[in-house]
Amino acid sequence: MMKKKLLLHVCCAPCAVYVYQMLSREYDVTCFFYNPNIHPANEYRFRKKELERIAARSHWEVIYADYQMKEWFQLVKGHEKDPERGERCSICFNIRLKKTFEYAKAGGFDIAATTLSISPYKVTRQINAQGEELSRRFGIRFLAENFKKQNGYNIGRKMAQEMGIKHQDYCGCVYSQAEKKLKMRKKSD
Ligand code: SF4
Repeated sequence: MMKKKLLLHVCCAPCAVYVYQMLSREYDVTCFFYNPNIHPANEYRFRKKELERIAARSHWEVIYADYQMKEWFQLVKGHEKDPERGERCSICFNIRLKKTFEYAKAGGFDIAATTLSISPYKVTRQINAQGEELSRRFGIRFLAENFKKQNGYNIGRKMAQEMGIKHQDYCGCVYSQAEKKLKMRKKSD
């Protein structure tokens, strides 16, 4: 039987290795890199390059969308001071998943999904609420998974380490980077 076509939004290479392995057992997976939240630009280039490296080695098919950083800043305007896991993150998930659904629709995919729920720092419910709303809007199924379940995060982390992929120490945007720096400073005080 032919596998269903799934477009997998990938936030970064370390989060993708385990999720890709799980999903490719059942689906014909294409990765989709669209992360205009990542700041600064050299960190964006680094995360993209890491994905290119792993995709070439593992023979993954990947679509790279444009960066569109300015558009991201416009859409989260007014939420600069929101804490991580707050409203800004819902908007950020929506921005990235909306583009994924647009590509899925144009490319004739059956299902859309994201690697985002593998992170223990993100609220799965918050991600899936965005995915399900977009699923209704675009008429494409969303795989509302929680990839950190059943030790998924630790297994993925180990797999990434074995492949020599570095884990990021902040979520991605300039605000999460500042939050991380503040926490580090408090720790060292
Ligand atoms: S903390 Fe992460 S999910 Fe939230 S807005 Fe920043 S990059 Fe997006």
